[in-house]
Amino acid sequence: MSDTVERIKCLIIGSGPAGYTAAIYAARADLKPIMYTGLEAGGQLTTTTEVDNFPGYPEGVDGTKMMEDLKAQAERFDTEVRFGIVTKVDLSKEVGGIHKIEVDGEKQIEAETVIIATGASASYLGLESEERLKGGGVSACATCDGFFYKGEDIIVVGAGDTAAEEATYLAKICRNVTMLVRRDEMRASKAMQNRVMNTKNIKVLFNTELDEVLGEKKAFGDEVVIGVRVVNNQTKEKHEIDVTGVFIAIGHKPNTALFTGQLDMDDTKYLITKGKSSKTNLPGVFACGDVQDHEYRQAVTAAGSGCMAALDAERYLSSLDD
Ligand code: NDP
Repeated sequence: MSDTVERIKCLIIGSGPAGYTAAIYAARADLKPIMYTGLEAGGQLTTTTEVDNFPGYPEGVDGTKMMEDLKAQAERFDTEVRFGIVTKVDLSKEVGGIHKIEVDGEKQIEAETVIIATGASASYLGLESEERLKGGGVSACATCDGFFYKGEDIIVVGAGDTAAEEATYLAKICRNVTMLVRRDEMRASKAMQNRVMNTKNIKVLFNTELDEVLGEKKAFGDEVVIGVRVVNNQTKEKHEIDVTGVFIAIGHKPNTALFTGQLDMDDTKYLITKGKSSKTNLPGVFACGDVQDHEYRQAVTAAGSGCMAALDAERYLSSLDD
């Protein structure tokens, strides 16, 4: 363990639109924020393609580019952005108390305020075959892995905007895309549904679920996807489809395990914030972005809540001086 403890005013955990916006505001308020990016620096938007709905980009913007811009803006106001993973937190229950944070299992930080912007991660179905074949053809990120399936046949599981977006993205790279939709309609917005339906090489199977991912052992024991078995949940009929890639796009779960037992969470483990604020149940600890929002989950709403968290942190620190 490191023997030097760093004492700071404001720690930001997570580097999506919420974290970076909190950083811009906290830095401009002279809180000298330090941000730890987490494993997926830039957050979920770095795994998306075009972002067309963030105000200020009339032509749309690449998700990764947008996060690079937000990072540059945060750094322009002297936010210190560090690559690292928060591994433990000991949050104070006292007003004016110091929050103890461990980074990468060794570095110790003492922070007067903590802004949590750890976001949410992709959910999986929970099939044993799905777990076994992760990295061998099962993925939750089309923009990360789609390239590997150029000219091949793949399936996308899910019926929300993410699934529709991934399917249309993959249709440009792959030969055939089959979407598995568990109900008789899609949840995705009408615009996204139209895009799916108007893409020739996307086929949508309604009332259909993934029953099993089928793999085959290659040389050196690596197992790769060679197909899927699907089941029609109305007729219970099963059939196999030959594919080499399986993209799971069924939503996300919040990254809150670190705070279990310390911060209040709802039934689905999202952090609970008070009223219209970013305040958690502990003084000096604030939450913003997808980690506390399962309702809107947009880059722009995450950014807005990041701004709120920085303002709440600043006001909290000012109130201690009164
Ligand atoms: P959603 O929660 O909106 O959709 C999840 C989808 O996965 C649903 O269709 C759901 O089916 C399906 N699903 C869940 N569990 C299973 C399962 N076990 N088996 C089969 N299917 C399952 O998540 P998204 O990630 O799509 O979107 C999250 C938010 O982000 C939304 O608000 C969305 O609008 C937004 N978004 C916006 C984009 C944009 O504007 N460019 C792009 C991507 C996301 P069912 O419908 O039956 O519940």
